[in-house]
Amino acid sequence: MFDTIEFLKQLISTDSSQPEGNEQRVAELIKGVLPPCFEVSCIRHSPGRCTLVAVLPGEQRSGAAVLAGHMDTVAFGDPAAWKHPPLQPVEEDGVIYGRGSADMKGGVAAMTGAAIRFAALGKKPRSPLILVYTADEENLGLGAVAASESGLLEGMGSLIVAEPTALGLGSCEKGALWLRFTVKGVLSHGSRPEIGLNAAEAAMELCLSLKNALPKAPPHPLLGVNTASVTGIRSGVGNNVIPADAEATMDIRTLPGTDNGAILEAARRLCLERNAQDSRWDCRVEVINQRPAVETDLSSGPLRRLGRLLEQRGLTSRPKGLFFYTDASQIVTKIPAPFAIIGPGDDKQAHQTSEHTERASVLAAEEIYFEYLKSTLL
Ligand SMILES: [Zn+2]
Repeated sequence: MFDTIEFLKQLISTDSSQPEGNEQRVAELIKGVLPPCFEVSCIRHSPGRCTLVAVLPGEQRSGAAVLAGHMDTVAFGDPAAWKHPPLQPVEEDGVIYGRGSADMKGGVAAMTGAAIRFAALGKKPRSPLILVYTADEENLGLGAVAASESGLLEGMGSLIVAEPTALGLGSCEKGALWLRFTVKGVLSHGSRPEIGLNAAEAAMELCLSLKNALPKAPPHPLLGVNTASVTGIRSGVGNNVIPADAEATMDIRTLPGTDNGAILEAARRLCLERNAQDSRWDCRVEVINQRPAVETDLSSGPLRRLGRLLEQRGLTSRPKGLFFYTDASQIVTKIPAPFAIIGPGDDKQAHQTSEHTERASVLAAEEIYFEYLKSTLL
């Protein structure tokens, strides 16, 4: 008999932290618990890393209900700083501690439990049930990209991403554009700045100019405004030296309707303008990570059905905006479909030391997914 909470504990004790990920280990555990009626495909990314797609076929191919979760976690830092060791799940008063408990092995356990229960009903669904377990969500989203390009998700009718929202109904998420400026100028003595080209100052100015050039979109009711933050500056050889090299990174978060490509163009233009001032400048910008913002139609069938299920449990069906990105941004931009981000655990626990989630929240999520699958596919 499948026990969702025991399975969550097994997932936590299986290290899949970035940057290595090693999602293969988690994929093996999942494969081990799915009943044989699921057709399981592994998409390999590199040794030890894969994305798993499991399909319970339906009478027709279209209208598939897709549940998605990522298998990787962020690193856990210094284990001594944790209340309990990060890879040894400990349950205390209904609270389960461990890396990934909230983000998002709790969601992965709940969607797996719901799918196993659904399959156990023994009824052929109208449309397929597809489970997507991705690798590398916490970095570049390799897994979500590969899954959406694999052809396995064709016919997707709706997508639920089981990320932690404390069972709130996420209907939109901000996009992200992470940039790195690299600047080469000319070294000089600190007392003779006029004969050098100060790369540190140029990097600073490029960042601030881009920040000022950010599109001023009107505030979104759930997501606020576009933001741009300088998240790193590296430069300097000595207090009395005008530096010739600098590097700066920015984390830009965008609203639906704001074009990340236009912001990147603005960054490139700023570099070109600087380079045109003196042929010795070499300013460049590169993209580290790029996700479009996504928003779903609030009146779509899946969201209405989910909303009703939440209300029946005394939970709110008011849509919620997510400030962070999820695999939804990689999937629905390639295969458009209504989507929701809803899962157990609090997103404030994500990436934290002593990360934890409540047993009750995981079980409630499983119940909601199970009811959702029944109402959508039978
Ligand atoms: Zn996550």
